[in-house]
Amino acid sequence: MRVAFLGLGIMGRPMAANLVKAGNEVAVWNRTPGKQVEGARVAQSPADAASGAEVVWMCVSDTKAVESVLFGPQGVESTIGAGAIVVDSSTISPSAEHQFAERLRAKGVEYVDAPVTGSKVAAENGSLIFMAGGEEAVLAKLEPLFKAMGKQVFRMGETSKGQAAKLVMNLQIALIFEGFAEALTLATKLGVNVESLLPLIQASMVKSGVVEYKAPFILRRDFTPNFPLRLMLKDIHLALDAAKEARVKLPALETVEEIYEMAAEEGHQDLDYAATLTLLEKWAGVEVKGAA
Ligand code: NAP
Repeated sequence: MRVAFLGLGIMGRPMAANLVKAGNEVAVWNRTPGKQVEGARVAQSPADAASGAEVVWMCVSDTKAVESVLFGPQGVESTIGAGAIVVDSSTISPSAEHQFAERLRAKGVEYVDAPVTGSKVAAENGSLIFMAGGEEAVLAKLEPLFKAMGKQVFRMGETSKGQAAKLVMNLQIALIFEGFAEALTLATKLGVNVESLLPLIQASMVKSGVVEYKAPFILRRDFTPNFPLRLMLKDIHLALDAAKEARVKLPALETVEEIYEMAAEEGHQDLDYAATLTLLEKWAGVEVKGAA
């Protein structure tokens, strides 16, 4: 298929590379020039990339970024043809996504939101999980592209329901990680060796995928970003905004939001969100070698 891929960040670049590997004709664009993907044409603007594309796939930071890529100067809207499909794998506001979809549907363009779960490693090895919002027939057309980048697609309902599901997923990741980080901090303070604690956690009902993924990084004190703290904080804000609109109270997430804001103020915003652990350690007076 002729695919335009917009946004070559931690996630977008390996996703686009997997589309090329699967034999698609790919044009890539990134706001900051200089990023490329082997075997793909480098486009000069979102409009240039979208011109003649059957599918325009986006993976950029946030709601404003998606709006500017679609509707800003040299945006997708100016060249995309009727019948083309726009897919958004960024994590953004569900209500904004709904409005973007309406605006493009008026031009005969199909629109799917397909945020992902799985981090940098899953993007690289093509094992992302997509949660999609859109019509079944449109999702069926996208199946070969989903297969090139991921291992599963869950249809959550109409357009924007993928984003709603994604916020619900990241809310849980943030809370599970916070529980893990608090457990590690208290364990260290009480003299329990963290390396002995990990197999116990994973043998018990406390076991989690979040612990499995994050523990090796934490043991190495490696906080290079797989999922940057600033992006998890963005998702916490989005979840709390959506909860406010829906009149739902999320007290634990509100507390976690404060912790992430403090960690960002301490300059950890571009580290992995696991670096929030270092704040708890600091408050507890835990001495750790190589702390962020
Ligand atoms: P990232 O490495 O920070 O990359 C962000 C991308 O968005 C870059 O290509 C950046 O371009 C572009 N961008 C930012 N603002 C823009 C704007 N105003 N206009 C156009 N492009 C803009 O982020 P990422 O980790 O790839 O994440 C991308 C999306 O996937 C986010 O919504 C994130 O929440 C979601 N996500 C990430 C993960 C993860 O583990 N990393 C997992 C699931 C979902 P520049 O190069 O010019 O800055």
